Amino acid sequence: MNKGLLIVLSGPSGVGKGTVCTELRRRHPELIYSVSATTRSPREGERDGVNYFFKTREHFQHMIATDALLEYAEYVGNYYGTPREFVEKTLAEGKDIILEIEVQGALKVKEKFPEGVFVFLLPPSLNELKQRIVGRGTETQATIDHRLSVAVEEMNLLYHYDYAVVNDQIDSACSRIASIITAEHCKRERFLHELFRELQELTPAQNGTER
Ligand code: 5GP
Repeated sequence: MNKGLLIVLSGPSGVGKGTVCTELRRRHPELIYSVSATTRSPREGERDGVNYFFKTREHFQHMIATDALLEYAEYVGNYYGTPREFVEKTLAEGKDIILEIEVQGALKVKEKFPEGVFVFLLPPSLNELKQRIVGRGTETQATIDHRLSVAVEEMNLLYHYDYAVVNDQIDSACSRIASIITAEHCKRERFLHELFRELQELTPAQNGTER
């Protein structure tokens, strides 16, 4: 059985990764979502085990020490990380899994899973990005300023990704990501191994069974 695809959706802070990912999952319920662990406090309406696994710093550090995370990053004073086992199990079952994570973590995933599909979400413009960070209304001014400077640095990391998707409209951004996933499933490498195996079975000479 073919392994599932590991899809990493990343991009600068405030570009709308969360919104696009939620809509993509609504449209494609077959896409498995990797719930991250974090040390930040839950926002209103967020549920443990659904949006994040909310952890104490001590528990998170224990997860790091026991290699329970595929990657982790410290972002604006909090830890965020991807639980490893769930990702590996899902891929082995042949299912696609999507990670919605910030750029440093995405680069670490790329080191371990270079065969992953790395999608960078771009804002329609830098001004738009600023409006989105300010407009979220849930953060203090100091946090907003920090997030803005981080976002500009993050834009430079586009180079490491396989695909760039402009988040101009959620609908079309989702459609483009879905097309990328479809195209990745059609890569010839995903068929070669199985095809050669079947061909060998069909060709008696190569099995040594020819008379
Ligand atoms: P927020 O606090 O707004 O939910 O998330 C802050 C940032 O952390 C977002 O850019 C989000 O994509 C990122 N993030 C969420 N989960 C993970 C994770 O498991 N690993 C990493 N590296 N980043 C994450």
